[in-house]
Amino acid sequence: MKTDLKGLNALETEQWAVEHGLAPYRGRQIRHWLLNRLAVSCDEMQNLPKPVRTLVRESALIAPLEEITTLTSEDGTRKYLFRLQDGHLIESVLIPERDHLTLCISSQAGCAMGCRFCLTGKQGFKRDLAPSEIIEQIILVKRSLVLRERLTNIVLMGMGEPLANYDAVIRAIGNMVAADGMNLSHKKITLSTCGLVPEITRLGQDTTVNLAVSLNAADDATRSRLMPVNRKYPIRRLIQACREFPLPNRRMITFEYILI
Ligand code: SF4
Repeated sequence: MKTDLKGLNALETEQWAVEHGLAPYRGRQIRHWLLNRLAVSCDEMQNLPKPVRTLVRESALIAPLEEITTLTSEDGTRKYLFRLQDGHLIESVLIPERDHLTLCISSQAGCAMGCRFCLTGKQGFKRDLAPSEIIEQIILVKRSLVLRERLTNIVLMGMGEPLANYDAVIRAIGNMVAADGMNLSHKKITLSTCGLVPEITRLGQDTTVNLAVSLNAADDATRSRLMPVNRKYPIRRLIQACREFPLPNRRMITFEYILI
């Protein structure tokens, strides 16, 4: 089975290189091509000798998603449809605003949370995304941007509940913010959750990305009707977890409401 290199951290990529008979610096070069230069093919890795490129091609998975279509709406919002290696489909949405360009990415194929207002919830859960599949959405969208466009913000708010795929999401965020990875700022990454209380607490310990909570109701009866997760983690517990969530200076938690 091929190694999914975009999901490895820096040390693991070096170890992979050594295990394949290469010097550790080759691992660093490959990581740079994959996460910083946004390569999706070994042929792009121009400073690697041909035998190394052949080794990477034969032993590693470096392009886990296939772009199927892109739809652009009148306001410039772009919806990307991607196919995973096993055929499941996921979406990413690029949202242009006056002074920033936000990409909303998926963390699961389908979703088990069953929020009543959500089409993804109606489809049910298919599977968790691997870290590389989360990251590749950013890579493919960045590659599609035209010269004057610059991606400014990432929001984990697409298909799936990111905190239900906790380890993969944390690993993906690690490669997004690593200086030798995608080198994005924590401040520009927001994770939106339907309210998995224990994982909100873990998130505050493991990263400093922004937190957004999909609230949608101010009382338990209404929220439980709209969002079954509320039966397990009612509003009082959710708000307590938010109060305890560590907030660096001048950062705040966003509470989201859907208008039905
Ligand atoms: S958690 Fe998000 S993706 Fe899942 S059903 Fe609710 S709104 Fe939809």
